[in-house]
Amino acid sequence: MIHITLPDGSVKSFDKGVTPMDVAKSISEGLARNVISASFNDIKVETVTPLTTDGALVLYTWRDDEGKTAFWHSSAHVLAQAIEELYPGVKLTIGPAIDNGFYYDVDFGEHTISEKDFKAIENKMLEIARGKHDFKMRSVSKAEALALYKDNEFKTELIENLEDGTITFCDHSTFTDLCRGGHIPNTSIIKAVKVLSVAGAYWRGDENKPQLTRVYGISFPKQKELTEYLQLLEEAKKRDHRKLGKELELFTFSQKVGQGLPLWLPKGAALRERLENFLKAAQKKAGYEMVVTPHIGQKELYVTSGHYAKYGEDSFQPIHTPKEDEEFLLKPMNCPHHCEIYKSSQWSYKDLPKRFAEFGTVYRYEQSGELHGLTRVRGFTQDDAHLFCTPEQLDKEFKNVIDLVLYVFGSLGFENFTAQVSIRDPKDPDKYIGDVSNWEKAEQAIINAAKDKGLDYVIETGEAAFYGPKLDFMVKDALGRRWQLGTIQVDYNLPERFDLSYKGSDNELHRPVMIHRAPFGSMERFVALLLEHTGGNFPIWLMPIQVKILSLSEKYEKYSEKVLNLLENHEIRALVDHRNETIGKKIREAEMEKHPYMLIIGEQEENENKVTVRKHGGEDLGMISIEDFAKIIKVDIDKTLKTF
Ligand SMILES: [Zn+2]
Ligand SMILES: [Zn+2]
Repeated sequence: MIHITLPDGSVKSFDKGVTPMDVAKSISEGLARNVISASFNDIKVETVTPLTTDGALVLYTWRDDEGKTAFWHSSAHVLAQAIEELYPGVKLTIGPAIDNGFYYDVDFGEHTISEKDFKAIENKMLEIARGKHDFKMRSVSKAEALALYKDNEFKTELIENLEDGTITFCDHSTFTDLCRGGHIPNTSIIKAVKVLSVAGAYWRGDENKPQLTRVYGISFPKQKELTEYLQLLEEAKKRDHRKLGKELELFTFSQKVGQGLPLWLPKGAALRERLENFLKAAQKKAGYEMVVTPHIGQKELYVTSGHYAKYGEDSFQPIHTPKEDEEFLLKPMNCPHHCEIYKSSQWSYKDLPKRFAEFGTVYRYEQSGELHGLTRVRGFTQDDAHLFCTPEQLDKEFKNVIDLVLYVFGSLGFENFTAQVSIRDPKDPDKYIGDVSNWEKAEQAIINAAKDKGLDYVIETGEAAFYGPKLDFMVKDALGRRWQLGTIQVDYNLPERFDLSYKGSDNELHRPVMIHRAPFGSMERFVALLLEHTGGNFPIWLMPIQVKILSLSEKYEKYSEKVLNLLENHEIRALVDHRNETIGKKIREAEMEKHPYMLIIGEQEENENKVTVRKHGGEDLGMISIEDFAKIIKVDIDKTLKTF
């Protein structure tokens, strides 16, 4: 008998050789039908792997990330088989599961493949899938493995790097692939497939090596799920921030100004200003002080901070002064400047914490091929701040920063997020600077803060930076995509490098701890994310124009102006569309511009001193007084803009 521990902590006894699928069946038939993969003692196993020792078993279904990975990994085998059958003589290389689907890198030899071939591949895959072929693992010797792939230099290279005795193949149908395992039980679970795209990819990512064709695909256990996924992709295209940014006249790029250097248009600049003011107001309440620092700094500054070693070589080259030949760098980070601000005074423990905030523009060189809209740029503005505190204050300061980040998320409609605490690997102490007791304190402070704030968090050992542990937020946007947002980082390194100190109650000098934080990350990336998350329908408090007043004809111009004035008295941002156009056209345009409210003004409205209210998307609120409308919109604003 062996003892199997299940995730709920219960322990069950089974005969030696029981499989994960048998265990699932012993729990319920329903579970057995849904189980598609498993892990045993944290190692992925097949659902048919005989278990021979005591251990912890986790069963996964399609709903789990691990289940999806097994599903897509198995689908990659089916894709490879389909390609091999349709294009005899191709050479298969590697084909992993990815976040959304899978790919296979293939040397197509004399064949070429394009979008028009996708349907045939999909049909072939479905035909194979319907055959209900089991995925079966077997061990092979290195010699056998090399023999099978004697004409495939890519697989040969992979096998050469494996140790004899550890090599396994996976068979299904008539197809065999070099594989470490992690499959769904059989092919018939794959009910819907889509070949998404093809792209060039170098073998092992090395541009000096042969170019292969990467075939991307995705698969699902239900046709309906594929349909929904494709709709999501369509929606993502519509919400592409580069497209929306143009339509909403927020930003542009100019080849003459230079690649990766966004130009903010008046509407975009106004949006940015509102975001900045929103954060500034919260920061003020939280005891931050604004500072301003220059866009360049002496090279020496970044040598001291260590940024030169990190960014220097691969970055923008130094600027030289004409006479003295001084060397300056474009600022890649604001931290060194803020350290020097801290250093400009003598601090006692009673003065701390000091919290210096700046919307600081920084410049980092990105290769032109890496640039992408506002998400990858060469110049961007961070909503940066650095907190300098005593080790005893770290706990409280960290919690306060979390509160601020959560306030930002809440007010901007990001409700779905998880947190990751990155701590050091205690087995590798040489990798980290700063003393162990401080690290322990900081890690505990972060974990306590995450717990106290009720965050859904995971701890990642060994993921800390060499200079300190951190907390990252992973935000899920409206389309289910994950973004990293709002990192809070503890730092022991810069206070050391800049020799920062404060006088303690013992009258001795001590090192402060530094916290780096930027809830938005950068204004550029954040606006991009916000555009894609909301599709341009920002929370109403942030909307450039909250109300558009549409008059039925020029006759009502005066009354429209009166409505506008009244709204402005309530600090509501409104605009009148006076043009001599049909009301239908005015409504359509206002919809496109995403104004949350439209007020329609005609004879009856003027006579009764009222407005007819239409919400973005078409909901009709009828004819009401201006005061009543002002109340409605105020409630709406209060609902989205929480108080800090
Ligand atoms: Zn496999
Ligand atoms: Zn910093």
